[in-house]
Amino acid sequence: MLPVTSVHRLARTSTLVRLVMDAQGQVLDMGRKVRLATPAQRRAIFARYATCWIDGCPLPATMCQIDHADNWSTGGLTDLKLLGPACQFHNRDRYQHPQRYTRRSVGTDRWAFTYHRLAATRLRK
Ligand SMILES: [Zn+2]
Repeated sequence: MLPVTSVHRLARTSTLVRLVMDAQGQVLDMGRKVRLATPAQRRAIFARYATCWIDGCPLPATMCQIDHADNWSTGGLTDLKLLGPACQFHNRDRYQHPQRYTRRSVGTDRWAFTYHRLAATRLRK
């Protein structure tokens, strides 16, 4: 139990953070508070994905960067359900050219992206 004055002080001086943890108490959802995935999130992502989450890219997930399904710079969350592995090329290319990629759900807990560079080029002509 905390004294009311301490609760008021905490309310004034703190930020509220929503944390979702797994059964071992490891943090899985970080919302907007943190950009980089936690070690527990990385382990969970490597269990879900074998390779980069762009269709046809063979780079093993364990050699990938952790990517936000919704770009962090535009409000994406660092929550496990919105994170996945992307090789350095696809992570950067999807950030710079989001119109080249289409996202779809795979099962209940994964995403995949289809690369449409040629289709996007044809549309501009
Ligand atoms: Zn890739």
